[in-house]
Amino acid sequence: MEAFYTLQGEGAHSGKAAYFIRLGGCDVGCHWCDVKESWEADVHPKQRIEDIVEGALRYPGRLAVITGGEPLMHNLDELTQRLREAGFKTNIETSGAHPLSGHWDWVCFSPKKFKSPHESIYAAANELKVIIYNASDFAFAEEHASRVGSDCVQLLQPEWSRTERMLPHIIEYIKDNPRWQMSLQTHKYMNIP
Ligand code: SF4
Repeated sequence: MEAFYTLQGEGAHSGKAAYFIRLGGCDVGCHWCDVKESWEADVHPKQRIEDIVEGALRYPGRLAVITGGEPLMHNLDELTQRLREAGFKTNIETSGAHPLSGHWDWVCFSPKKFKSPHESIYAAANELKVIIYNASDFAFAEEHASRVGSDCVQLLQPEWSRTERMLPHIIEYIKDNPRWQMSLQTHKYMNIP
């Protein structure tokens, strides 16, 4: 769908320069999704893997973040292998709604209520990032936290439009449950993609 060089704004790698590769296609259907234009894969012309890697190599950063849409709707073995061969660390941001493919240095698993994750994601997740839209999302977060590995970083992130309302609740929740950490969409505060 698009690719761009920016700073990773959220999650465990927040603040790092990264080349984002956004793949078209998502069948999860979050009502608050901020990239709904990604949902229809067919409206985004196919790109050659060589060209994607070449685009990433134009910049000095060597962190590639594969996102979407839901990137695991595609088999990512070849793309991630080529990126690694070119010297990139490979990170993915996924809802886990499809079987895991690809070679990863970091898996950010962000489950959504609207489509259940595939079993393959839990053991692979380095980071569990749960979007908090309303109070019931804390129980949803705990449900998934009980299934990831013990060294998985656990993050709670307010859904952007609900930040003002939910932030105080998330702060108190983390103080009471310190296995969790805060994640904010700092790219939106910085006004960068
Ligand atoms: Fe949007 Fe991501 Fe939800 Fe898909 S999984 S609908 S891309 S927020």
